[in-house]
Amino acid sequence: METTRLPGPVVAPVRAVPKLSSVQQRIQVARLAQAEPSLGSAYAQALARWMGDPVLRLAGVPIVTECYRNPARQEELYAQGRTKPGPIVTYKRGGESTHNRWPSRALDVALLLADGEVSWSGLLLSKFARLMKAADARVHWGGDFPGEFKDRPHFEV
Ligand SMILES: [Zn+2]
Repeated sequence: METTRLPGPVVAPVRAVPKLSSVQQRIQVARLAQAEPSLGSAYAQALARWMGDPVLRLAGVPIVTECYRNPARQEELYAQGRTKPGPIVTYKRGGESTHNRWPSRALDVALLLADGEVSWSGLLLSKFARLMKAADARVHWGGDFPGEFKDRPHFEV
């Protein structure tokens, strides 16, 4: 059996658990309040399990970057990569997205790192997705969407 040594730099582990400021915490509470209760509760459970894991909590703290989105904002995002510069980020027009419902049936997640940067690491989001799906089987993860377009920050019910 052959063994392969992976090349690459050795990254010194960051030992500090990233911490949200009180303003950031208030924003999180406000965003989560926009979510359909079952989605909000799945997120709260997944977050608690993540923060209870000694390895995951050092990797980054999950944050909700967006929950409810009004149809005008959805149209703006739809224009991106079509009539406006930037990559395509959505296939839904204003009013069509699960983010446009009230309460919102979707939320987008990223990870706050210890250095204050925000990460959309596919690996970390897939780990968080496992906790979300375990919390509530009705949760669908954008990383499981069929076809080419994977929306890994996205969760919906
Ligand atoms: Zn989304």
